[in-house]
Amino acid sequence: MQDDAFFNEGELVGVLTTQPLDRPLDYKAPEGGCHLGAFVEVPLGPRKVLGVVWGKGAGDYDRSKIRSVIRALDAAPMRDELREFLGRAAEYTLTPMPAMLRLATRAPGLGDPPSMRKIYRLGDVIPDRMTDARTRVLEVLRDYGGLSFTLKEVAEMAGVTSSVVKGLVKLGAVREEDSPRDLPFPRLDPARPGKDLTGDQEAAAAALRDGLRSERYGTTLLKGVTGSGKTEVYLEAVAECLKMGRQALVLLPEIALTGEFLARVEARFGARPAEWHSGATMTERRRIWKMVGQGEAQLVVGARSSLFLPFQNLGLIIVDEEHDTSYKQEDGVLYNARDMAVLRAAMGGARVVLASATPSLESWANAEAGKYDKLELTARFGEAVLPEMRAIDMRSEAMEAGRWISPTLKQAVEARMEKGEQALLFINRRGYAPVTLCRACGHQIGCEECDARMVEHRFLKRLMCHQCGETVPIPTVCPSCGAEDRLAPVGPGVERLTEEAVALFPEARVATLSSDMFGSARALKAEIEQIAQGGADIIIGTQLVAKGHNFPLLTLVGVIDADLGLQGSDLRAAERTFQLMRQVAGRAGRAEKSGQALLQTYQPEHPVIRAILGGDEEAFWKAEAAERQAAGVPPYGRMAGIVLSGTDVGAVFDLGNALARNDGPLRHIGAQVFGPAPAPIARIRGRHRVRLLVKAAKGAPIQGAIARWIAPIRLKGDLRLSVDIDPQSFY
Ligand code: ADP
Ligand code: ZN
Repeated sequence: MQDDAFFNEGELVGVLTTQPLDRPLDYKAPEGGCHLGAFVEVPLGPRKVLGVVWGKGAGDYDRSKIRSVIRALDAAPMRDELREFLGRAAEYTLTPMPAMLRLATRAPGLGDPPSMRKIYRLGDVIPDRMTDARTRVLEVLRDYGGLSFTLKEVAEMAGVTSSVVKGLVKLGAVREEDSPRDLPFPRLDPARPGKDLTGDQEAAAAALRDGLRSERYGTTLLKGVTGSGKTEVYLEAVAECLKMGRQALVLLPEIALTGEFLARVEARFGARPAEWHSGATMTERRRIWKMVGQGEAQLVVGARSSLFLPFQNLGLIIVDEEHDTSYKQEDGVLYNARDMAVLRAAMGGARVVLASATPSLESWANAEAGKYDKLELTARFGEAVLPEMRAIDMRSEAMEAGRWISPTLKQAVEARMEKGEQALLFINRRGYAPVTLCRACGHQIGCEECDARMVEHRFLKRLMCHQCGETVPIPTVCPSCGAEDRLAPVGPGVERLTEEAVALFPEARVATLSSDMFGSARALKAEIEQIAQGGADIIIGTQLVAKGHNFPLLTLVGVIDADLGLQGSDLRAAERTFQLMRQVAGRAGRAEKSGQALLQTYQPEHPVIRAILGGDEEAFWKAEAAERQAAGVPPYGRMAGIVLSGTDVGAVFDLGNALARNDGPLRHIGAQVFGPAPAPIARIRGRHRVRLLVKAAKGAPIQGAIARWIAPIRLKGDLRLSVDIDPQSFY
């Protein structure tokens, strides 16, 4: 079926709704007919629900009982390309279609008529009695005749009270009109000149432009050290895409969606792009969704879910910081936005640019295999040089109990402060202390509902479970032995490190950046901007600071515990540590000043630590690739995680064992099943969790096999089953 297919009134159409049904339902096309892909409202039992005309009706139902579509909504129909993409993404992630459609309709009030607001224009009547105020209003409206203003705006521009304007409306000298609230976005001008690019940058930009002009799908890995100008280069690709009249999407990790980035886009193209993220207002979301659908938003800058917006003609998707783990959605629909971006582009003849200083091994391997093109920027722009990286061998530092900043690191921080530069102390742990221990009985305080320790958050004056978010006041009595005042924090978190820094550097202005310390994304962004402008001497931060923020005065990064990520059984532990350490170190010395990164470690000979310090990235990737290849794990093999959960631990295990016994469909494709075993976090919110792991060869069709494997299962009671294709985390 084609985009322009049309159904006349009364014809049978199949409508996919966002309700959990396993297929589209038949309805009769409404009065006036409807397009294929139309967003419609249909009756379902006693309710009205949102749906999309997915195709012809199946016609296998008593025709006399078929109801009519209530109405087609005032929105551009969903294009073939997006319908097919949702279908393929559903197959890939083993997600039911209604859940996929919910992702693509995540804007409120899509069914509402466009809401209106009053705007004011010049009328035909000239009032008999003129005053200065009245004259100013009429002049403003005459001068800006092409634009529409609200009452408040007119009054402000004319410098009068709104009653003056209202008075003119009564006389007919000013006209009051209704105008839709969902206004188009201001046009971006791709013809404006960008920065003068260096030779390397220009070569990379030219290659991306050529790719776009081919109007065929292709993915390019744009690898370049932090500060090498990747953003400048991919903005050139965006410019080319806009010149071609196609839409572009820039995906950023949610937290990197800062004013700084938007301001850069505005400086380049003369207007702000549409901005899609969890902090956007409901009205704004609706406006973006509609305008994207009408092709009126040229460029969207957004978090991962913007991939499901109804673009009319998407020509380019940039995935910035493509290695970032937050691209994987870990609840609801388990999808990886980076992989889905490639899928969507492949289906719509669009280009993808994956930008990173430390690509994921997946993308690195795809480039190695020739599936992706690869462009590399090796030098930092201008004077900026890469930070010098060194280990601080903690075995030979004199450390007091309860202290984490070594004397060597302390000295280095002081030296920077004397020069008026900033230092960042990095620790990837939220809260005050990860463990609260009873010194009388050795008990560690855990969450009642989860298999997790409670983490002290002194800032909130509570203990918090990082799994379920439950908090309790900090107790003074051990819940296990009843001893009083014997509870002690063990280990450092970002808050405790702040306390130590304040004590060690009494003169310094210390700022702490941790995602849980700010009420809103907006407050956090404001704090980041304030720090960037020199509002702090020492920044204490978690992972949050590793992501794309530019702190021009920052020249020293001290990593408190470089060994932290190396423990654990995660197959990506080495890769993650390598990426994180390089990213964090890359925060130092981004402007003219040179930077340094110091890594506190108890195992300076560890191969990953040596690779980080040595800076021979290719050697690291090759070694890591060889290990994964030998183990047959991603990206050289396929994996899927199955998590079973329920309140009755016996029932959860019974289900797991039954699955493991009946693994015929998996054996059929040569896949292996491991487990069932208690998940690393064996209980969350009172539900017991059991994992199975499916491992198969690279090209094996695991989705189909898993679908056949789990199809016979009927989940009883509160049992739940979730399938995670290409799992990124193994909790
Ligand atoms: P990356 O995305 O690789 O981290 P950016 O594109 O953010 O790098 O560039 C780092 C800094 O250098 C930015 O402030 C950017 O504006 C500046 N820059 C990069 N290339 C140029 C150039 N050719 N001319 C002027 N400034 C540049
Ligand atoms: Zn909990």
